[in-house]
Formats: sequence, structure tokens, C-alpha cells
Amino acid sequence: MSVMPLAEIQLAASRIRPAVVRTALEPSPSLSRLAGVPVHLKMEHRQRTGAFKLRGAANAILSLPPGTRGVVAASTGNHGRALAHAARAAGLACTICLSRLVPANKIVAIEALGARVHIQGAGQDDAQREADRLAAEEGFVGVPPFDHPAIVAGQGTIGLEIVEDLPDVETVLVPLSGGGLMAGVAAAVKALSPRTRIVGVSMERGAAMAASLQAGRPIEVEERSTLADSLGGGIGLSNRWTFEATRQLVDEVVLVTEAEIAAGIRQIYREEREVVEGAAAVGVSALLSGRVRPLGATVALLSGRNIDPTLHLRVLNGADSLEDRT
Ligand SMILES: *Cc1c(COP(=O)(O)O)cnc(C)c1O
Repeated sequence: MSVMPLAEIQLAASRIRPAVVRTALEPSPSLSRLAGVPVHLKMEHRQRTGAFKLRGAANAILSLPPGTRGVVAASTGNHGRALAHAARAAGLACTICLSRLVPANKIVAIEALGARVHIQGAGQDDAQREADRLAAEEGFVGVPPFDHPAIVAGQGTIGLEIVEDLPDVETVLVPLSGGGLMAGVAAAVKALSPRTRIVGVSMERGAAMAASLQAGRPIEVEERSTLADSLGGGIGLSNRWTFEATRQLVDEVVLVTEAEIAAGIRQIYREEREVVEGAAAVGVSALLSGRVRPLGATVALLSGRNIDPTLHLRVLNGADSLEDRT
């Protein structure tokens, strides 16, 4: 089973209902005008903890075997924050392993939720190794950020809501990193609406899933700093679920530049009055840059809002990358 069955996603939806916000799908007049098709925004950045990751984390926590002492995970930030939140609600100990690329605002938020934080290594792969080590050492259960059925099913609940709110959706733009979000959302959308096109959007700087799809197997790419920090990291060379699901379900993958991500963040702030992080802006970036040309009702999934406020201001003032000091 590489594609998550609809029934599993529906089960996850009933399991996590009390723990998550059912986010709005809102029409965007300005993006609709620019794209020439009706564009809607899935406001998942308004999810508790500031990103969709709470859906998968809550589903994983609520599916743990009785007697679990604690959970441990590696994260680019948002999964750690979501897991810390869900673990605290369940009265479980939680340890989060982060690499040095994770922005400070995300570290502070995880610590504020009572989780123990380990900073380890220069990238996501190092953080994952540390998480595996701690899981073995402390007898905690590892809850990976994307490559796990409970995580995929939880993220898939977003797809149920999109089709419920917009049954004639033609294209869904999904930010794509490890593919937990993609594997879940695409499984739900394709099960309910097989003709809907699913487009994955990643950043040009270190798009591990896109490179793996091209190679036909999971491969490593160099992890680089990017405005879309939540999309950083590999998919795991021994990926079990999300690579195969993405390969089967995704219709197209497009890559956007740092300047295009910055333009997306600015557009979403100026026209929609919403604060989103780089990873969440990539669908709008793909529309604005013309890298995707939708033919009908289109949904851009805004996946999170946990951007460092100083960086957000710099981007609004014209910075087109992390390094750009203008
Ligand atoms: C984790 C994350 C993504 C990517 O999700 P994957 O399941 O790793 O593909 C996109 N946007 C935000 C804000 C995230 O935190």
C-alpha cells in the first residue's frame, strides 16, 4: 500500500477533529484576476501552532500504543512545534532534534511548549540521526516528520476539506518537501475527484523530492539555506511511503526561485493581508511566475505562517533572498 486509502484519511479526520482547526478556503479576487481562473487559498497557516503539521502530529499521537512514555522527532521546525503541542496535550514527554539551519523563532516556540530541544548538525539528515539515536536510548517512540502512515493520513484531512468546500476544483498547488503533505492531500483529492490536477511546488535550492522523482529513486541533494526553510532536507534514502505515493499521484512538479518565493510572500501580505512563511508562499509564487498555468478553479495551499518577523519585514521591503540586504 503506497497510496493512503480514503477510509484511513476519514478515520484520521474524526480522530483529530477536537484537536485541530477546520481552516477556511477563501477566494482571492486579486490572484483570480492575475491567473485568469478562480483562485482560492486554503488558510492552513491559521492552523494551531501556525502550520498544517498539527494534523499529522495529532493523528500520530492519538494513534500511539498505550504505555508510550514519550516521543522524539527530527524537524525543520514546524513538525517539532506541532508534535510538542500534541504531546503536551496528551501528557507525554517530547524531544525535538533540530539542525543549525532551523530559524531561532521556531526553536523558541518549541521550547515554550515544554519540549526538550537538541540542536545537532548542519542539516536535516544529522537531526534525524540524532532523533533515531535518542529513540533507541530513551525508549521513546520516533514520530518522523513525513514518512509515516499516521502523518500522511493526518495531512490528508486537508484534501477532504478542499474537495468538500470546492467540489469542482481543477488544480491544487501543494508545497512539496518530504511529501507527507502531498501524499495525504493528493490521496484524498484524487479519491474524491480523480480529474483534479495535483501540482507539487518546491524551491530550486535543494528540491530533494523533485530530484528523486527524476532519478526514479530517493536520492540525496545538498541542503541549502532558503526562504522556504520548511521545505529543506532530504526525503530519506530508505523512504517507505511518501516517495512512491508522490510518484503515483502528482501530475507535475515545478520549482520556484528565491526571488519568486519573496514575490509570493509580498503578494500574500499586500493583497490578502496574511503573513505566511516562504514554504507556504510557493503555490502563489508558481502562479505569479507563470510556471503553472491552471485551466480552472485552483487552490493554493498556504501551509504555515512561522516566519521570523524580521525576515518577513525585510522581504516586504524588497529583499529577494536570505542573503539580500537591500
Ligand atoms: C513541512 C512543511 C511543508 C512540507 O511538507 P512535507 O510533508 O515535508 O512535504 C510545507 N510547508 C510548511 C509550512 C511545512 O512546515
